[in-house]
Amino acid sequence: MTKICVKCNKEKSLDLFSKRRDMKDKNAYRKICKACRVEQSKIYNRTLNGIISNMYANMKFRTKRNIVPSGNFILKSVFNTICKNSNSLKIIIDNWAKSNYVYSFAPSVDRINSKLGYIEDNIQFLTLVENVSKGQREKNQVRVENGDYMFPTKTHKWCRLCKCLVDKSDFYKAGTKRDGLNYECKKCKAKLDKGRKR
Ligand SMILES: [Zn+2]
Ligand SMILES: [Zn+2]
Repeated sequence: MTKICVKCNKEKSLDLFSKRRDMKDKNAYRKICKACRVEQSKIYNRTLNGIISNMYANMKFRTKRNIVPSGNFILKSVFNTICKNSNSLKIIIDNWAKSNYVYSFAPSVDRINSKLGYIEDNIQFLTLVENVSKGQREKNQVRVENGDYMFPTKTHKWCRLCKCLVDKSDFYKAGTKRDGLNYECKKCKAKLDKGRKR
């Protein structure tokens, strides 16, 4: 059995056409062959509307899978308006086209504050490569005592027990360690020693 694709006009064997799951007749084949459909979606994925709907689907997926916090998830219509008015998104898309669609230069949605989800005032557009490197920088940050985040510094060291950045003067000296200080801060060390005595 063969069928003629309405797009490329080639006569192809039926298995080169996919079935339409949206039709009543589940065995109805599509009018356009699989190869042409792949080509079509590639083109659509590079249009503004295609980019918007892919980014939105991705945001939804990441939220549903609890990869990012939920709460006040942005409405499709609001997201649509933001995208269509965003000059930075326009520039990213132009550059992506100029690169002949290199994957790392594709547009992506970044959460400005990574502790919050995809909510209206927390999104901006970055290329994929910028987005990933921002994420990596944030991973290297650690929590300090007041619940804020900061990078390890010359004056502060990570305590492996309270999982905080603590001033280096709050660590006991330990000659055997690489930096000459214990792994845990004085407070944690005291608790640790108390536990050991029991
Ligand atoms: Zn075709
Ligand atoms: Zn500690």
